[in-house]
Amino acid sequence: MRKLLLVKYAPEIFLKGLNKGKFERKLKGNIENTFKDSRYSFVVDQGRWFIECDDLKDGIKKLKNICGISEICVVDEIDSDIESIKKQALSNALKNEGKTFKVVTKRANKNFPGTSMDVSREVGAYILQNTERLSVDVRKPDFFVNIEIRDKAYVYSKRIKGIGGMPYGTNGSTILMLSGGIDSPVAGYMMARRGVRLNCVYFHSHPYTSERAKEKVKELAGVLKKYTGSISLYVVPFTKIQMSIIENCREDELTIIMRRFMMRIACNLAERHGINSVTTGESIGQVASQTMEGLVVSNDVADRPVFRPLIAMDKVDIMDVARQIGTYEISILPYEDCCTIFVPKHPKIKPRVEEIRKAESVLDIDALVKESVENTEFFS
Ligand code: ATP
Ligand code: MG
Repeated sequence: MRKLLLVKYAPEIFLKGLNKGKFERKLKGNIENTFKDSRYSFVVDQGRWFIECDDLKDGIKKLKNICGISEICVVDEIDSDIESIKKQALSNALKNEGKTFKVVTKRANKNFPGTSMDVSREVGAYILQNTERLSVDVRKPDFFVNIEIRDKAYVYSKRIKGIGGMPYGTNGSTILMLSGGIDSPVAGYMMARRGVRLNCVYFHSHPYTSERAKEKVKELAGVLKKYTGSISLYVVPFTKIQMSIIENCREDELTIIMRRFMMRIACNLAERHGINSVTTGESIGQVASQTMEGLVVSNDVADRPVFRPLIAMDKVDIMDVARQIGTYEISILPYEDCCTIFVPKHPKIKPRVEEIRKAESVLDIDALVKESVENTEFFS
């Protein structure tokens, strides 16, 4: 008998028809990449994936962060004969703290005698005969005894939820505007979870924003890397742009003009590095600049799709995800970002494209963008 981790991937991947193989290969590659520094082997039995590794806890921790995996089960692999199955099922059931159980059998090995129902019934009866503590409840059991009969047989009760989604790297790429706040890391995670390759850009206003603020963003990118395997971060010098806006434009239009610069630079970096799209952590109505009109005005300068995966989420729900993915505690550290320093008292909440285009036309936009992009620092 050996203990293995059964890896179940998101049901969506099954729906991919002819492309299923492509998604499976990517996912397998991502798993292998995650395990590359530990001793492990990848076991396949009639289409089912198992990981054998020295440290199961660590294995589970790794698999839990891989996009596209819906569930991880700790299984005992045994010979595929009914006596071995019964014994193992009993031993698993006795280890469980629940009082009621249900046996569920999947019989992929069609040479195995009896139907799945027959096996479940026989194993259930055997467990009942050998314990007084447990009883069967087919409707709402405290735990399941799962049996899969393939070349080998696998028995398990312990199931751990994975993050689901699609294999990372199967759905194009995006450049995430990553600030030090709570929202943008969550937005990045949501895109990565859908298989979209993530790059990050941070606009840094030295010396108005400290080195610590930049380190914080790097740290956030580091947390996102848990889900992506690797990540790149572009740090764009933004002070000169902000100063030019402050000196030359109306106070109530600072924020929206600044946003348009961020968008232009993100698109420019995307173009240079072959990235398909832009992602932000904006959510409708969260702050004055995140009005529908504001979003229209910032999209006006984008030359590719701009995704805002949090657009319809409530702040409390965003915070929940942030806690779950491990970015919350970093995000709430109090280092100021460039937007909190340059916030106008009464930002325009219904800007219009024409009027903002005109307002910013006093600036040498192309030269400012070019200079910032050329002085961008890269981290990975
Ligand atoms: P967050 O919690 O992500 O900082 P927020 O609610 O504070 O968002 P804003 O500060 O208005 O909202 O920023 C909206 C979005 O613009 C952010 O989610 C992020 O995608 C982007 N953004 C803002 N400031 C920066 C920055 N300094 N560098 C990179 N992106 C930024
Ligand atoms: Mg912010």
